[in-house]
Amino acid sequence: MNSFKITCSELGYKWDARFIVMAHHVSLWSKDPSTKTGAVIVRPDKTIVSVGYNGFPRGIADPEYLYDDREYKYPRIVHAEVNAILNAKDTLKNTILYQWPASSCSDCCKMVIQAGIKTVVNPKPSPDYISRWGKEDKLTKQIFNEANITYLEVDINDNSPIAKWLRFIKTTLSISSR
Ligand SMILES: [Zn+2]
Repeated sequence: MNSFKITCSELGYKWDARFIVMAHHVSLWSKDPSTKTGAVIVRPDKTIVSVGYNGFPRGIADPEYLYDDREYKYPRIVHAEVNAILNAKDTLKNTILYQWPASSCSDCCKMVIQAGIKTVVNPKPSPDYISRWGKEDKLTKQIFNEANITYLEVDINDNSPIAKWLRFIKTTLSISSR
């Protein structure tokens, strides 16, 4: 039996699914072998303002092995949502941020609020993610709540429509990269 519960933004589940899948795709552009994150910022009329993924700032050499060195990586890396905010050439007032694979860290959630984004949508975190990052996840949700940001989690478990789309896209990508 299909037990997932649908929560969706004002754009509706179909568009949430499309943009979550797109955030997943953008995350694959990151050179970080251990953590690939993606962000897509969307206007209320469903047009895209900006995208971003995690990586070093422009001009800084970013071969993959440097991402394995945490001491080198952490002070330099720009998180996906911050790149998406900085890449935007239009106002972000009242926009929707879609993220992959999880919610913002508490540092980035402050940028999201200050940028004027009003809704944040990301996949529902896995139990494994919660066991590692549960405290940070809770803090982010609390700060978004204090700032009146609408925060939504969409289900991507195996039976959800989004999971089917993701499987389809992964298959397509593996075919096209052959
Ligand atoms: Zn962050």
